Amino acid sequence: MAAGSEERPAVPRRSVLAAAKSRSAAQAVEVRRSTRRSRTVSAYREDGRTVILIPARMSEAEEKRWVAQMLDRLDARESKQQLRGDDELAERAGELSQKYLGGRARPRSVRWVTNQNTRWGSCTPSDGTIRLSHRLQGMPEYVVDYVLLHELAHLLVPDHGRRFWALLDAYPRTERARGYLEGVVAARLPAPREGCDH
Ligand SMILES: [Zn+2]
Repeated sequence: MAAGSEERPAVPRRSVLAAAKSRSAAQAVEVRRSTRRSRTVSAYREDGRTVILIPARMSEAEEKRWVAQMLDRLDARESKQQLRGDDELAERAGELSQKYLGGRARPRSVRWVTNQNTRWGSCTPSDGTIRLSHRLQGMPEYVVDYVLLHELAHLLVPDHGRRFWALLDAYPRTERARGYLEGVVAARLPAPREGCDH
């Protein structure tokens, strides 16, 4: 998902590009037939669509059945990961609020989102919700902590004024984390910029 609308080289293949209409996600599905495959079917997500690899000689009915099954499998796996990740994130938010904000920031919900590609984090102070971009996953913990603390601080100070940054001064790695994120932005454009809409 890194580069969004990045052009991909055309590769010779027999493919079907179809929308899975019955699904709430209405995700694009691309089926690739491979002569190298005799039995195995596999699937993965790429650039907001699902690629399903099937053996070249599979019938259309089999293809239909496998596509449905692989989409279900991916959905189940992702919702499980998402759930576990959100719990940990909420727990971490509680710890950070306690340690650096005197426990005053009490979010109502904290969760990972995959539809946020232009911002690392966002929050809605009016209903106490915080969302972190899944693109932070895999980055150093101090960076994720910084973004989380940044959004927690917004529950207390909505703008980016002096009072806001004074809150973040309590976190010893604010500058380092901001530098890290700037480096990511510089290294692979387009990427999220730090900041919020408010
Ligand atoms: Zn902000």
